[in-house]
Amino acid sequence: MFEKILIANRGEIALRVHRACQEMGIQTVAIHSTADADAMHVRLADESVCIGPAPAAQSYLNIPAIMAAAEITGAQAIHPGYGFLSENARFADIVAEHEITFIGPTAEHIRLMGDKIAAKQAVADAGIPVVPGSEGGVTSDTEAKKVAKEIGYPVLVKAAAGGGGKGMKVAPAAKDLPEALKTARAEAKAAFGDDAVYIEKYLGRPRHIEVQVIADSHGNVVHLGERDCSLQRRHQKVLEEAPSPALNEGERAEIGDIVVKAVKKLGYLGVGTVEFLYEDGAFYFIEMNTRLQVEHPVTEAITGLDLVREQIRVASGAKLEYKQKDVVFEGHAIECRINAENPVTFAPSPGRITQYHAPGGLGARIDSAVYAGYSIPPYYDSLIGKLIVSGRNRNECLMRLRRALHEYVIVGIETTIPLFDRILAEQEFVDGQYHIHWLEQLLKEE
Ligand code: ADP
Repeated sequence: MFEKILIANRGEIALRVHRACQEMGIQTVAIHSTADADAMHVRLADESVCIGPAPAAQSYLNIPAIMAAAEITGAQAIHPGYGFLSENARFADIVAEHEITFIGPTAEHIRLMGDKIAAKQAVADAGIPVVPGSEGGVTSDTEAKKVAKEIGYPVLVKAAAGGGGKGMKVAPAAKDLPEALKTARAEAKAAFGDDAVYIEKYLGRPRHIEVQVIADSHGNVVHLGERDCSLQRRHQKVLEEAPSPALNEGERAEIGDIVVKAVKKLGYLGVGTVEFLYEDGAFYFIEMNTRLQVEHPVTEAITGLDLVREQIRVASGAKLEYKQKDVVFEGHAIECRINAENPVTFAPSPGRITQYHAPGGLGARIDSAVYAGYSIPPYYDSLIGKLIVSGRNRNECLMRLRRALHEYVIVGIETTIPLFDRILAEQEFVDGQYHIHWLEQLLKEE
């Protein structure tokens, strides 16, 4: 097992990784920008290294500075968290070249899944159902028109290098296609430096259901059930739950089985998430994330497993300690992403937190790196914490979520806490009857 791990991230996820390391008796090295000198992950880590100025490009994305920090401190492995360099194949390659373990899959798997066109082809070959669409990318408008006509409108133009909902445009009818192609290409070029796009059937009212997997280097692959991430705004997840209110046990076992077989075939290592859209009883692959996800705690809550510990173990070459039949799903869990944003306009709200009180009690977990007196810097993602509640069933979970939200006090900045009260007041949400466009429709109506 590793003796020292460098955590190449900040905020709640850096703290999350630190906690797992502490429990495993592993020393941690925090890295930070000048803006994060007072951050909680820096305070709690065993060692810390300042790697550059506030802008992420010069600090959390600065590969030479991060490698220097790893060398100086003698870290044997690097945990990338999520975001930043977590899905950067070049970074994984460089880490490996330095004979340091990258806690994640191989660079080839990151590269494969990062190219959504290649990924779709690879998983389809491995037996996973995909959204009907173009075979590979579409290079000309004429080709795009032909494909769209075959699959039928509305269609979605998506960026091969896509992520974070960028470079995605809907074309409701043939007349809208040229414009959708143009904007998606331009957005993709600006965001990813790659304007390759492909076309998919646009599903009207699907749910977003994703399957968590973990694979060791001895050929063992286990799935840890699904998460329902249908509550979204601008293609970004807002609230996640496990299990999905839409699936029955048979469907869960079936999709889990398909995913495990495919992941085995691909020879994948580490934790990963296979994301699907689910409509009328059918699953359609959209992408595979080759890292730990923001919403991993809901899976931890229903399986009792520590996903970061598992991730570190398999990266060190250890075998999974359980088989599929040993994984038991118990109860229900919901996670709310708390952002430093205005809850109505969603405008970022950085600044100083003057008062802070986090909820506690049975079944309430907070993953956050903020505290009273902490100033949220304006440079990074607005996620400041995650409230994860669990209960014996969904109903208990909802009751607990209501009371935990009422306990949560953050003064000095605006947060999205009130948004969750609004969501919980909706009968359709209480009944688990929602799809990926539901939240945006609700926000539009008000
Ligand atoms: P990104 O990598 O940018 O997050 P994804 O492919 O994971 O892109 O899709 C993000 C979200 O976009 C999905 O959760 C869903 O809400 C929406 N989406 C993606 N593909 C489709 C589709 N074919 N039809 C309808 N919505 C889609």
